[in-house]
Formats: sequence, C-alpha cells, structure tokens
Amino acid sequence: MDGLTPSILQRGHLTCHCLLIETRDSLVLVDTGYGLKDVHDPHSRLSEFFLKQLKPDLRDEMTARRQIENLGFRADDVRHILLSHLDFDHAGGLDDFPSAKVHMMQTEIQGARAQKTWLDRQRFRPQQWSTERNWLAYHAESGESWYGFAKVHALEGLPPEILMLPLIGHTLGHAGVAIQRAEGWLLYAGDAYFYEGEMNVEKPHCTPGLTLYQIMMEKDRRSRLWNQNRLRELVKLHGHDIDIFCAHDVAEFTRLAGRSPDVPVRPLPKEETTRDRDFPREQPLH
Ligand SMILES: [Zn+2]
Repeated sequence: MDGLTPSILQRGHLTCHCLLIETRDSLVLVDTGYGLKDVHDPHSRLSEFFLKQLKPDLRDEMTARRQIENLGFRADDVRHILLSHLDFDHAGGLDDFPSAKVHMMQTEIQGARAQKTWLDRQRFRPQQWSTERNWLAYHAESGESWYGFAKVHALEGLPPEILMLPLIGHTLGHAGVAIQRAEGWLLYAGDAYFYEGEMNVEKPHCTPGLTLYQIMMEKDRRSRLWNQNRLRELVKLHGHDIDIFCAHDVAEFTRLAGRSPDVPVRPLPKEETTRDRDFPREQPLH
C-alpha cells in the first residue's frame, strides 16, 4: 500500500496531512483530517465500510484542533479553512471550528450533497457538515491562471499569497492549495495523487494498493490522470521553485513536518512560540 511496509501481510500507513498557515491576522487551516467527534463516536460519523477498510488511528491528540491548541493557539483563531474536498478523512475536523469560513469548489458541494452512488454515501458524510452555513463556494468557470493551471482562485478575506486551484478527478470539485512563501511556493495537492513516486518525473510509479484505491475512489478518471500529468509537468519545469505534497504520503509528511506522522506536533520552545499572541477578535472590514 505505502511502498514502505516490507510485507503485504502487514498493514501500510497513510497520513492525513493538514497544513496550518499563520497570516497577519488569523490562522488558516488547509484540510481538517478526522475531528474530535470522529474520534469519540466513529460509528455514528463514519461508514462501517471505510472504518473496516482503513482502520483509522483515531486519537484525540492527533486531531487538528488539539494540535493547534497544543501550539498555543485558540481554536477560534482559525478563521478560514480551505478544503481540498469533502471526503470523510478531510472534512471530519470542520465541526471543531464552528466559526471558521470554509472555502471550497462549488462542484464539490454539489457532488457531495447529491449522494448519487452507494460509495458517495460512504465517503461524503453529512454527519460532519454542521458548519454548512459557513461554506463559501468558488466556481470553476472563472479564475486566473497560475503556472499554466487555469481557473485558479484568490480567496475571500485571505492574502493573495494563498490560492485554490481546481484539480478535478478524485472528486468532482477537488482542489489543491498553493501558498507563496519567501523560499518559493508550497503546493498541497490533496488527493490528486497518493504516493510520492507518482510525482517522479523520470519514472512515475505507484504501489498496487494505492493504484487500486485511487481507481476505486475516482469520480472522473480522465481529469484525474490529466491533472496528475500536469502536476508532474509542474515538478519537471518548476520543481526548484515549487514544493509539492499530497494528503496521504508518509514520506512527504516526514520530510516536510520533520517528524513521524505517528506523533502530534510538539509545542514550540518559548522564545519561538506565538503563544499568548492575540489575533484581532473581529475580522477587519476590508
Ligand atoms: Zn483522502
């Protein structure tokens, strides 16, 4: 499954990689993983099918909410959530940030609400959507261009260094998030690919388990493979400038986070901490 586990008799490991961005006046969370309610009452929130298939390691201290608190922030400092898509393992933590604005593609909301197939009903869980009133939808017909990717959106209330780019395929409104930092762009590709080797420009490869899983979960194969190709092109042409990662690859998580995905984030040393930092309690008017 993960390309790391030595025997097919052993379970592989996947991460639910979330990203926390500190802007001048708030925190922005990119994807939310599983939330506290999923941890405490998995059977009412998640489908038995995926609980059995994936056996998620549901722990209180691994949720985004607890890790953000552990860093010295308050949950309501998270004013914005950018969601790659509405699958249960990305949207479970939405309920832990009831006042945050949630940004995602319009077609994602439509597709998830439609609940067209049996699999849709297992993956898109309305039980996790108590914040629906805070959802902001972006339309795939409009937008700017970014490194050859079209229909890229700047986001309402967020600085222009944070962009959402449609990467359709895994779901009908799947999107990645690009963040401009001093050292170059960071591109979170969500579930547009699952395994680091898929972004290998010389010899793209994927494990059999993750190849099958992606086929099982895809909503639009042509778009999915086309977008994977475009991402590889991006790595080939601009890899020096753009650091790309996906939601579920353990090696990418370990490289970027500098720790194993099995352990929660450590509080920062006192001198580096933003603890006690007071973000403005009200959103600025502009
Ligand atoms: Zn996923």
